Amino acid sequence: MRILLVDDSRAVAAVIGARLEVIGHEVTLAENGEVALVRFRDAPPDLVLMDIEMPVMNGFEAVQRIRAMEATQDWAWTPIIFLTASDTPENLVTAIEAGGDDFIAKTVPEAVLQAKMKAMARIAGLRAQLAYANRKLEAQASQDGLTGLYNRRYMDLRLDHQWAEACSSGAPFGLLMLDVDNFKKYNDHYGHQAGDDCLRAIAASLAEVVAKANGGLLRDAFVARYGGEEFAVLMPRCSAATLGALAGRLVAAVYDLGISHEQNADWGLVTLSVGGAHVVRADGKLAQLFRGADAHLYLAKQKGRNRAELD
Ligand code: GH3
Ligand code: MG
Ligand code: MG
Ligand code: MG
Repeated sequence: MRILLVDDSRAVAAVIGARLEVIGHEVTLAENGEVALVRFRDAPPDLVLMDIEMPVMNGFEAVQRIRAMEATQDWAWTPIIFLTASDTPENLVTAIEAGGDDFIAKTVPEAVLQAKMKAMARIAGLRAQLAYANRKLEAQASQDGLTGLYNRRYMDLRLDHQWAEACSSGAPFGLLMLDVDNFKKYNDHYGHQAGDDCLRAIAASLAEVVAKANGGLLRDAFVARYGGEEFAVLMPRCSAATLGALAGRLVAAVYDLGISHEQNADWGLVTLSVGGAHVVRADGKLAQLFRGADAHLYLAKQKGRNRAELD
């Protein structure tokens, strides 16, 4: 383990540090709480051994600050063992209250020190596993299984947030609804498996176009699988012209994939229809934005598909 050993006594630090290094740990020293905070931030250790009485900043305060630092990051937690000369019940209670996980006397036998550190490392390991599993679940819960795009659930969350932000600042906002043309016929003709492959290819190209757009004039635009063969693009803080240009690029990108679709009217290839809606100042009427995009999508279908319609 990488251990941060905090003690104002050089003699104590040297003795304990040497004992830890002998059994294979990597030890960093700090001579008071303030120095410990700097070391902790610059190179987060696996475990902290913390003296209590020290000049400049004592151990209790240092640990409170370490815990406050960790509280700003998800899942961050480092085991902290207080290490002190005065092995009193009062000190034990204060140490735990301050955010320490255990408490040992400096005169502790070697075997006890090692056993306690092992127990702490085990808890830290379990916690890291839990954090990893939790992050993975979070990612999965926001992802569409077929295409890897964000799913409808995550889009709704993101939209709530982006829309509220746009309304409070009176910023512009754009929405695109995308629908694959004659996709039922694609499935009927080429099979459902091919249909799935086609949706994956479409999703990848939409994601690429949106990512590129984000690198340019836009930020925070994102594409989600809205459901079935429908996708949506949210575009906070964009102009109507930018929204229109992006809609056109999305339509072109799908056509340019060149995926055969004999049953798709005159096109002969898989195509996309897009309906857009835009407000210059977001005003709380989100349903209206969706109605506008849907109406334009309907119009795009009416006019022969493979096109984008906006205000
Ligand atoms: P339009 O041009 O008017 O949009 O016609 P359409 O056939 O695309 O529209 P419709 O809504 O009638 O059919 C959508 C089809 O999309 C029906 C469904 O089988 C197919 N679909 C939806 N989700 C999936 C999916 O996950 N995989 C596959 N392979 N097909 C899907
Ligand atoms: Mg001391
Ligand atoms: Mg549809
Ligand atoms: Mg369709």
